[in-house]
Amino acid sequence: MSPKIRDLVKLLSRLPGVGEKTAQRYVLWLLTAEESLARSLGAHLSTLRDELGPCERCGNVAELRDGHAICDICGDSKRDARLLCVVARVHDLLAIERAGSMRGRYFVLGRLLSPLEGIGPDDLPLARLIDRVRGDAVTEVIVATPPSVDGEATALLLKRELSPLGVATTRIASGVPHGGDLEFADPITMGRALAGRRAL
Ligand code: ZN
Repeated sequence: MSPKIRDLVKLLSRLPGVGEKTAQRYVLWLLTAEESLARSLGAHLSTLRDELGPCERCGNVAELRDGHAICDICGDSKRDARLLCVVARVHDLLAIERAGSMRGRYFVLGRLLSPLEGIGPDDLPLARLIDRVRGDAVTEVIVATPPSVDGEATALLLKRELSPLGVATTRIASGVPHGGDLEFADPITMGRALAGRRAL
């Protein structure tokens, strides 16, 4: 294998979910597919880090303009600034946006509280979150951290930190997936689905 291909395979296999075989398939595909594909991909990748960065207000991905990055959601005046949804990662924000029912804005923590991994409250951007809640006169913070041990610990920490500000903190419900079979739901999920029930 030519060193050039070997290097590219090595680089691509560092991407999440891409093993060496897949990386090799990508390289060979790019060599044989339409020429413009490889060129256009290369052009986009080479400027990616110069043109995009974390939004200064929420941590979402944003386009850099004059050295500043404000994402589309923070810049959208039709969004309700008093409703703030806290998520762990940008992936989670995108998943909520896909559902299309969130009319407020977001705050991306970047990480979750994890005593096992040595991530404590000081490692989370709590001061920035409190500033955001105060600055935007937020009335409700929806905590949309994942339903895991770390996600729950983070939710409790947020509630404790935000309560003194007089803001309501709510937690997203978790339950059985739409279109899913009840018999396959694990006991924790089923327990939450029952606990989070509402009137019909
Ligand atoms: Zn933003």
